[in-house]
Amino acid sequence: MEDGKPVWAPHPADGFQLGMIVDIGSDTLTIEPLNQKGKTFFAPMSQVFPAEDDVNKHVDDNCSLMYLNEATLLNNVRVRYNKDHIYTYVANILIAVNPYCDIPKLYGPDAIKSYRGKSLGTLPPHVYAIADKAYRDMKVLKMSQSIIVSGESGAGKTENTKFVLRYLTTTYGSGQDIDERIVEANPLLEAFGNAKTVRNNNSSRFGKFVEIHFNEKNAVVGGFVSHYLLEKSRICMQSNDERNYHIFYRLCAGASEDIKKKLHLDSPDSFRYLNRGCTRYFASKDSDKQIMQNRKSPEHVKVGALKDPLLDDQGDFNRMCVAMKKIGLDDTEKLDLFRVVAGVLHLGNIDFEETGSTSGGCVLKNQSGQTLEHCADLLGLDQDDLRVSLTTRVMLTTAGGAKGTVIKVPLKVEQANNARDALAKAVYSCLFDHVVKRVNQCFPFETSSNFIGVLDIAGFEYFEHNSFEQFCINYCNEKLQQFFNERILKEEQELYQKEGLGVNEVHYIDNQDCIDLVEAKLVGILDILDEENRLPQPSDQHFTLAVHNKHKDHFRLTVPRKSKLTIHRNLRDDEGFIVRHFAGAVCYETTRFVEKNNDALHMSLESLVCESKDKFVRQLFENSNTTKDSKQKAGKLSFISVGNKFKTQLNLLLEKLCSTGSSFIRCVKPNLKMVSHRFEGALILSQLQCSGMVSVLDLMQGGFPSRAPFHELYNMYKQYLPDKLTRLNPRLFCKALFKALGLNDNDFKFGLTKVFFRPGKFAEFDQIMKSD
Ligand code: ATP
Ligand code: MG
Repeated sequence: MEDGKPVWAPHPADGFQLGMIVDIGSDTLTIEPLNQKGKTFFAPMSQVFPAEDDVNKHVDDNCSLMYLNEATLLNNVRVRYNKDHIYTYVANILIAVNPYCDIPKLYGPDAIKSYRGKSLGTLPPHVYAIADKAYRDMKVLKMSQSIIVSGESGAGKTENTKFVLRYLTTTYGSGQDIDERIVEANPLLEAFGNAKTVRNNNSSRFGKFVEIHFNEKNAVVGGFVSHYLLEKSRICMQSNDERNYHIFYRLCAGASEDIKKKLHLDSPDSFRYLNRGCTRYFASKDSDKQIMQNRKSPEHVKVGALKDPLLDDQGDFNRMCVAMKKIGLDDTEKLDLFRVVAGVLHLGNIDFEETGSTSGGCVLKNQSGQTLEHCADLLGLDQDDLRVSLTTRVMLTTAGGAKGTVIKVPLKVEQANNARDALAKAVYSCLFDHVVKRVNQCFPFETSSNFIGVLDIAGFEYFEHNSFEQFCINYCNEKLQQFFNERILKEEQELYQKEGLGVNEVHYIDNQDCIDLVEAKLVGILDILDEENRLPQPSDQHFTLAVHNKHKDHFRLTVPRKSKLTIHRNLRDDEGFIVRHFAGAVCYETTRFVEKNNDALHMSLESLVCESKDKFVRQLFENSNTTKDSKQKAGKLSFISVGNKFKTQLNLLLEKLCSTGSSFIRCVKPNLKMVSHRFEGALILSQLQCSGMVSVLDLMQGGFPSRAPFHELYNMYKQYLPDKLTRLNPRLFCKALFKALGLNDNDFKFGLTKVFFRPGKFAEFDQIMKSD
């Protein structure tokens, strides 16, 4: 940083602001903002960065900036976003800022055509360019490819994933049904696996890896979807202003009268699983007013979640049906799906009350009689069996030496509620597994040479309350970050090698210790949790203390009480733990970890659904995990570990990723309001930091980030030099030029086709040239 030149200094809302250094302390700088003369402030030296001469200039590839730091990256992305250039490269990584509006022609057929076969960088940055690069790499290297799309909720992962799939099937498809099916599988998956949240009106509540398979001629022949961790808690309960999975509302809104009658469907407002999270909206239609009149406090009455003005459930239902048809689902299959969805809704309406007898059990509330009938009917269950299974639990008694006697223990109201919700979650998640399986059946293919896989999985999460779901997703992001580091570093080093630069290895912060903390055998948090789940009386507190005990001095783990790392309420040590992730410290509240880690149903519920009269329902459970342990002794609650299943899936995914070539798309959410043309700098900066982009810049800072082909330098500077020099070929020209200028040998390296500069050195060189 030089005297008299503007710098980027921290700004609480914008991320950075332009200012001048007016004084230099030992580790702080005094800055005067450019737009507020006289209003100086202090900034830590490590957070002040040199600015480009022209801060309104933008570049396609951030690496071609003179100064490579988080402030110039943020500024480049900002200037571009303001011009509707939502995509930017950092070398081969694509940054995609969600525009929250349609940008004309950005994705149209002409754009698709134009990117075909073009090298990265020849056209403006685009998700199509990444898709095409993956395809060309697959073809040339004869190697499968993956595209890893990441970012926080609402950043645009799913939309960009769809653009990749559409691009590849349109450009390199075989013209058969399969092309369309790969694209049309999405509306179906989204209907069952997406929901409105406060962060995104169409939030994916599961992760997916979609593979497009190609034959030896590199044409599309098939597809395969793997899915990860559907958020189950949402089925029974949603936070304020959030909704359950789209399918529930769509079915209520869009099904024909005939189907609604068959499934006993009503407004979503009449179902417990739908009417508790969402803000209700004022009625506009007569039918809605009717609902209002039936309510007790008319002044507050609004109508059901069905009327979310931001969503068109009816239209979406019709679109989903079209998609179902295109992927080959017939009416019977469609009705099977709808029947189970409706069954889950009715199940949720079953209510219990205490019997008042000394045995302390509970019975169904009077008005639940018909609900029970509907639910049993739709799921093919016997009404009495369902009632008994919900209100009692089978136990194995050892009392009085009568070992192995099976008895039925009555459940309390709360336990019966839990049993009901557990059954609903099990049924719905098996249904979701089935939907994915069915989607996979619609792209049958015999052989494939290679695939391009697109990973659309939630990014690092840090909320006010963080539970088991965030723990799993952040563990996943640690693994993906490690993969990203290895790949980006490797690529960078390969480039240096290819260009013949003998440079030392680049170092980066390894997060293996954090991964081990979670997944190591026996001592890792996941195994400690499993051990707890296997105890006769597992408890969240006992588990939490065990975690702290095992890892007393672990750098990555600490008790909530001691830590200044995160803002959190006063948690006791047995109520949570803090993990220092690569992207920041997160305090996890461990309430319900034990419950959330168990996929098993109680024996009685388990056998109930496995013996359903409905073939479809039986099938749902036949292949599911849940049945694996069903032969376990009655009375023991079987345990199927959610965490370890995820760990296995994740390790398989990573093995797969490691065996492919890879590209990365980092999606960025520009604002929390979900509106267009609003760039919240600080929010975006923290996403760039969390996604590892700032580390990439740091990494390049230690290497040779600015690079310029010889011929480009030749053309840029020949006007400043005598004819004699310009007669040389571009490489020699550059050599002679650098020598004449007396540049320091440590500041640059000559490759085969390019000169590589140390950070900022290209800028210096450019300045010397222009001032001479
Ligand atoms: P989640 O993790 O919650 O699933 P996500 O990263 O998948 O979030 P998307 O669902 O892809 O986020 O995007 C959220 C919304 O932003 C979309 O429904 C769409 O309205 C808008 N959006 C995202 N990308 C684009 C784009 N490229 N052009 C126009 N709108 C977009
Ligand atoms: Mg999504």
